[in-house]
Amino acid sequence: MKLPYYQLIRSKRKTLSLQINRSGELIVRAPQRLSVKKIEAFIQEKYTWIEKKTQTLEENSQPKPNYLNGEVFLYLGNYYPLTRETTSKDKLEFDGEVFKLSDTDNGAIEFHRWYKASFKKIALPRLDYYADLHQLNYQKVRLKSQKTLWGSCSSVNNINLNYLLIGAPISVIDYVIVHELAHIKHKNHSKVFWQLVASILPYYKAEKQWLKDHGHKLYNL
Ligand SMILES: [Zn+2]
Repeated sequence: MKLPYYQLIRSKRKTLSLQINRSGELIVRAPQRLSVKKIEAFIQEKYTWIEKKTQTLEENSQPKPNYLNGEVFLYLGNYYPLTRETTSKDKLEFDGEVFKLSDTDNGAIEFHRWYKASFKKIALPRLDYYADLHQLNYQKVRLKSQKTLWGSCSSVNNINLNYLLIGAPISVIDYVIVHELAHIKHKNHSKVFWQLVASILPYYKAEKQWLKDHGHKLYNL
């Protein structure tokens, strides 16, 4: 596990505390004589919390789109500009280069609708492809846009997928699909679970990293 950069402030306090400031830096407050080894062990213990906090901060610092002419939107890992038109039909359209939307429509609603439909068309066949190929049979699949999760697999093998993933490169979508399908065999994140994921997608670590680095951008609707 890697140690994040942190700023250490020692004082007469008795306990350790962690804080993420507005610029996303980790501030550690520690008693005068506590060893660096103990401080860093504490930081590692709280690593998941730190990551979550930092990510929420990144999300919140992203300005929300106004759905105006020229604003760009992610689709399959690339950004494409939006054109608002007076004459277009009432649905969001994409011609491979530009998103077009009539200027009377609600941008957020139309983008959500379009992303969900695109995810259905593009990602669900891939879910079935990987399920069939590796005999990982799920019960039902549901599409959501929850902020906290890219996907999940229940105890009875119902799969949830976040359709906002359609903004990510297809390889990243495949990773989330394979990850959830692998939970059909292993309901945990054990070594054998990751071995199964790797046996299907040998380079999954790069996709996992992409989500960590860029995932928050997919929520920007
Ligand atoms: Zn998992």
